[in-house]
Amino acid sequence: MMARAMQLDLPGEPLREVSLELPDPTGADVLIEVTACGVCRTDLHIVDGDIHGRLPIVPGHEIVGRVVARGSEAKEFAIGGRVGVPWLGGTDGSCFYCTHGMENLCDRPTFTGFTRNGGYATHVIADSRFCLPVPDRYGDVEAAPLLCAGLIGYRALKLAGEGERIGFYGFGAAAHILAQVAAWQGRRVFAFTRDGDTAGQQFANSLGCAWAGGSSEAPPEDLDAAIIFAPVGALVPVALSNVRKGGRVVCAGIHMSDIPSFPYALLWGERSILSVANLTRGDGREFMQIAADAPIKTHTTPFPLSEADEALACFRSGVLDGAAVLVP
Ligand SMILES: [Zn+2]
Ligand SMILES: [Zn+2]
Repeated sequence: MMARAMQLDLPGEPLREVSLELPDPTGADVLIEVTACGVCRTDLHIVDGDIHGRLPIVPGHEIVGRVVARGSEAKEFAIGGRVGVPWLGGTDGSCFYCTHGMENLCDRPTFTGFTRNGGYATHVIADSRFCLPVPDRYGDVEAAPLLCAGLIGYRALKLAGEGERIGFYGFGAAAHILAQVAAWQGRRVFAFTRDGDTAGQQFANSLGCAWAGGSSEAPPEDLDAAIIFAPVGALVPVALSNVRKGGRVVCAGIHMSDIPSFPYALLWGERSILSVANLTRGDGREFMQIAADAPIKTHTTPFPLSEADEALACFRSGVLDGAAVLVP
């Protein structure tokens, strides 16, 4: 069948609308009619050439759609059933990491919209073993940001530990979802926006954050952990200076500017810095169960598929309150 897609030929160039011939799905693959696909910061890193996958590529890894055809081994999702496709599109299943419960670190992974065509399209083929159910309480557009912003944000929240006082640096698509999850879990969230972004701080407060301020401000009390969603390495020492002894600073993005040097005293006291890479299918199922139980309100701005470049530009300039979502 023919799919319409927005394809990246070369980093730095606009996406190009193309028709792609999709084969009938085989094995565990499913053919999905895309109903919504979120725009993630990682997509910006891909189109800008900050990270390098396959070219040409159709971006998009926050896919919600319906199964229209299945390979002979793809039994988990019914024809016509709703399905979500996340960033982790496949693994080799055999490397050290896959065989030790760390498939997010697989040596030979497949990533949706990076090394395998993604959801900036009317249709996409995905490996059903890596697809996720989408909770009924969300519409297609509302659900799209759950697939990466929510899911990888959730992995970051797990790695942040059980602490009650969590700081979020950068209050965008991921933080606005995770703030609601953290509040639902009984934690207190301290939201750090760009300095002077009072609208962002009001938005954070409206989602139940305990405190909101600029990233150069000190929180009213020490944090148990901080998650850095903004791709800004300079925030690492800033966050370290605000976590208690033994506290963690989790870097949640796939790409970050260089981290400036900082005094060892900021790390001393068994503080730690770690990064979050990708997701496991276990994280995906866990998070989708939480999303089914917790009333998460995702803030979205829909764009027609053909306006993918406009959606990326709006995301880049920070003018959107919620997550951009492409609708074919
Ligand atoms: Zn592997
Ligand atoms: Zn993403």
